[in-house]
Amino acid sequence: MIIIMKPSATAAETEQVITRVRGIGLDVHLSQGEARAIIGVLGNTQGVDRASFEVMEGVEGTVRITQPFKVASREFKATDTEIKVGEVTIGGPGLVIMAGPCSVESRAQILETAHAVKAAGAHILRGGAYKPRSSPYSFQGLGEEGLQLLAAARAATGLPIVTEVMGVNEVPLVAEYADILQIGARNMQNYRLLQAVGKTDRPVFLKRGLSSTIQELLMSAEYILDSGNYNVILCERGIRTFETATRNTFDINAIPLLKQLSHLPVIGDPSHGVGKWDLVPAVAKAALAAGADGLMLEVHPQPALAWSDGAQSLKPERFAGLMVELRALAAALGKTL
Ligand code: PEP
Ligand code: MN
Repeated sequence: MIIIMKPSATAAETEQVITRVRGIGLDVHLSQGEARAIIGVLGNTQGVDRASFEVMEGVEGTVRITQPFKVASREFKATDTEIKVGEVTIGGPGLVIMAGPCSVESRAQILETAHAVKAAGAHILRGGAYKPRSSPYSFQGLGEEGLQLLAAARAATGLPIVTEVMGVNEVPLVAEYADILQIGARNMQNYRLLQAVGKTDRPVFLKRGLSSTIQELLMSAEYILDSGNYNVILCERGIRTFETATRNTFDINAIPLLKQLSHLPVIGDPSHGVGKWDLVPAVAKAALAAGADGLMLEVHPQPALAWSDGAQSLKPERFAGLMVELRALAAALGKTL
């Protein structure tokens, strides 16, 4: 349920409503807009008598949220959520590009990539230190050493870093290094992990599960929000379908639908979405045209030698060329890049 205050409501009237909500054992999320305050009521509101709030001073009305995801829904918060990471704002008029290798492999590799993507205009550096691999015999990531190398690349370039955390036990360590915590597709429904990152003060980059519906993605976001962390970024990274010609099927529909259903920022990841570097630019452009707030793109100095996901990684010069095209597209979309 949300309680909408009148534009003329005083701070004291808003406070009285909040006190009453807390008095019946529920919590609140206050969004103070320019025109009015909106009080989101958190918890089980099933038995709440809405009329008793509607008669309070300063209250314009109440609305019941019909979606199963509550805090993540547009009904709960009509305005787009903007998430600040250092100097970067995700979810605003500026498109945000996160770029870097699938895995952190060495100091030279991550530094070279970081400098290259920064020069081309990327805003955030990506790179995995803990890798969820289909085979236990594949490279599993450098672990803490990888985090240290990412921190060195951040120090050298000023780019904030996004990196995956795979397990509850590793959340404190990864949060120490990362500016944004990534939850990988395979962990989208690891609810204990979602709650653990929800208790940190780091924004969370939540990737859609391999075979997850849009509703399931939003319910997973709800776990993080419900744990107290309101900085959640949704990511469409392709889903599994009958089609095997590409690694996944990039669900372009998900982007405008997520923007419609939720106030959270949406990022497209065409690299994992298609799995083939030569298809990445077209799908990257399609994702932005569909309304994505930015992109995650895998870039590697020598894709043929990459320890993971080389087939879908762009060479730095191709990434730079794509950035030029994306800038022109951003202008056509009324956004900046
Ligand atoms: C990745 O970002 O490298 C990754 C493992 O992605 P996903 O979880 O979407 O497969
Ligand atoms: Mn990858």
